[in-house]
Amino acid sequence: MGIIHEYSKTETISRRILHNEESSYIEVPFSVPTGTEQIMVKMEVIQEGTASSIIDLGVKDQNRVRGWSGGARSEFFIHQAKATPGYLYGELEAGEWAVLLGAYKVAAKGCTVNLTIEYSLEELRWLKGDLHTHSVHSDGTFTLREKASICEEAGLDFLGLTDHNAASQNEAYPRDVDTLFIPGMELTTNRGHLNLFGVNDPIRDFRVTKMEELHSVLKEARENGAYISLNHPYCRNTGWRWDWDFDYDWVEVWNGPWRDENQDALDWWQEQLVSGKRLVAVGGSDVHRPHPYVIHGMPTTWVYSKSLTSSEILQSINKGHVVLSYSPKGPFIGLTCGTCMTGDVCEETEQTVQLNIKDVHYSDVVKVISNQGIEQEVMVEEGHDMLDLSWSAGNRSFYRVEVWRYFPEAKSRLLAALCNPIYFSN
Ligand SMILES: [Zn+2]
Ligand SMILES: [Zn+2]
Repeated sequence: MGIIHEYSKTETISRRILHNEESSYIEVPFSVPTGTEQIMVKMEVIQEGTASSIIDLGVKDQNRVRGWSGGARSEFFIHQAKATPGYLYGELEAGEWAVLLGAYKVAAKGCTVNLTIEYSLEELRWLKGDLHTHSVHSDGTFTLREKASICEEAGLDFLGLTDHNAASQNEAYPRDVDTLFIPGMELTTNRGHLNLFGVNDPIRDFRVTKMEELHSVLKEARENGAYISLNHPYCRNTGWRWDWDFDYDWVEVWNGPWRDENQDALDWWQEQLVSGKRLVAVGGSDVHRPHPYVIHGMPTTWVYSKSLTSSEILQSINKGHVVLSYSPKGPFIGLTCGTCMTGDVCEETEQTVQLNIKDVHYSDVVKVISNQGIEQEVMVEEGHDMLDLSWSAGNRSFYRVEVWRYFPEAKSRLLAALCNPIYFSN
């Protein structure tokens, strides 16, 4: 349970408990480093002889008891956004904490408690998730726990909860699972849909029938701290039919399986970029129920974030640090220029743009696109699962990349991956 990543450090502490300490609460201090995203504590009780000792487990932070599981557990985790039941998630303030050992029953010869404490530190990394999904809280069939297991199976780190005009999902999602749920709501009107992210209860009333009402509902969502995404704008049934001049942050260019209405959204996005607008592109499956093609994580939104928390993920999306792929397995587009990455504005044009794509297949077609249209089109050769390209930035306002793949089940070439642009301020 909890997150597992490579930026971890572990310490082990042993505490001998004597029989005369029975019935006392023992504190075993440990130091939480600055920038800790999660701690995980494991306890092992080494018995002496045949008589057994019973030791309860808990933890305190600098101010309070942060969790207690008595004799029910021998390990727990506390993450910034999730925790083992009985423990409080939230900020992991640096400084001295203590493992609490309840010496409930101690054998005559005593016992030894071995504690292993693992700290996972905040570190920028690519997290992957699905921003647009439905559950039993609107017209979907999945419970939130079912969604967490599906995501775990698929290797997704986070999941947007975007039930139609509902907020109850944001009060009900589990925080003891691997998946991070991002609170959301799909504001669903008769003339178009928008996702509101990051706030449990973004608006009091979803009923919008006039443009002025849309403006005022979005103002309320904005004041409550929500990010706003324009969903499937060219969907034949539920596309955008309001005035396009309104307050939003991102556009969902990829909704569920690749099809013409997504292509229309992608073409519109390209026009916006060419006109000089810097608009973040996101994707989401819009899954409602088990379906052969509409599946959690198809497409996957990859976000470069320093922690698995809603606030960090949403802030990173807002910076455009976002890559989309048709599935959690990629392909993954790495686009950089000097110290800039996808979404950044590069001040220096006399630089080399570097492209590194992972998990490509033979015959995938990679397109490098700028404000002048397609700049390069390269086919992946047989026996290669990576593609590297570089070119001089030149006098362009942005570069972005698409990967196209032939899918035999669809009998056509479809988008397999897309990245947000690197912009140039020339
Ligand atoms: Zn929708
Ligand atoms: Zn939807």
